[in-house]
Amino acid sequence: MFSRIFVEKSVANFPQVAVIKERFSKVPVTEIDAIEDIFGRVKKPYLQKRENLQLFLGKKKGTLVKEAPEAYGLAGEPHYYFIHAYNCIYECEYCYLQGYFQSPDIVLFLNHDDIAKEIETTIARHENKTVWFHAGEFSDSLALTHLSGELPFYFDLFKRYPKAKLELRTKSANIKDLIKMDPLKNIITSFSLSPEKRIKATDLKTPSLKHRLIAMKKLQELGHPIAIHLDPIIHEDQFLETYEELFSELKTYLDLNQIAYVSMGVVRFTSKVFHQVKKNYPKSELLAAEFHSSFDGKVRYPRPFRLWLLGKIKDLGLKAGLRDEQIYLCME
Ligand code: SF4
Repeated sequence: MFSRIFVEKSVANFPQVAVIKERFSKVPVTEIDAIEDIFGRVKKPYLQKRENLQLFLGKKKGTLVKEAPEAYGLAGEPHYYFIHAYNCIYECEYCYLQGYFQSPDIVLFLNHDDIAKEIETTIARHENKTVWFHAGEFSDSLALTHLSGELPFYFDLFKRYPKAKLELRTKSANIKDLIKMDPLKNIITSFSLSPEKRIKATDLKTPSLKHRLIAMKKLQELGHPIAIHLDPIIHEDQFLETYEELFSELKTYLDLNQIAYVSMGVVRFTSKVFHQVKKNYPKSELLAAEFHSSFDGKVRYPRPFRLWLLGKIKDLGLKAGLRDEQIYLCME
């Protein structure tokens, strides 16, 4: 998977580094002073991740917990995200990461103790409120957990703060480490889903819908809270039929009544990412639609059209058995 592993001196003795080195025993390892000395120093084209992906292990410096943008999660409660990784092994054509870093290489930050301190300070600032933390704003929260090994740490942490909530957002089906944990009511694993046809066309290298549904079913059976993101919603021919089919599959695998929440969001890009999508995937079906610069500078479908899409999908969800209060609209 990786052509080289760079290890910052500051984490060279961390047990997880030994685990990763052993797992990739044939991959050359280089010790470095600081990730930022090498990562992104020279621009590496995004699509090089297909042939040449490097792994960086180190400590995250600066702000580790950040306030999430408005409408990021359930309204009325403070939302934060924390950063413990950069970049992703998957390749969704709309991915915001393609315009974000100078390099698609994977970075895993191992100073979870420092992140935990900031999480605790943030919780203390919002006494008596439910504070949400979202893992992995710049990565997939589960895809590499068998390597990064941080789940037991965060389960211990959030067990001590039952009022705070942690969301692990993923497109993976990698629940190997997660199912070893005792479920906690306040740790919710949320799966981003699209109709299977869309996953095949746009969410390159991600697990199939079926594999994700099997993983979700397993977690639900074990008592882990799960949630769903129908995001990004992309318009296509037979759009209503494909989402009707998706809801019917959800009903087959899951108890919809037990889903913590279902968020819905229509595809959107910053103008920088939109430019990258056109460059990296000029033939993408994504680009067939009409896009406009929107109220917040993002590139989206025209507002009446996206409200129509959201309305239709919400109706399908309600028809499938979801309750109105389970559904929220994302970034609108
Ligand atoms: S799973 Fe998420 S982070 Fe990974 S490529 Fe797809 S959109 Fe980007």
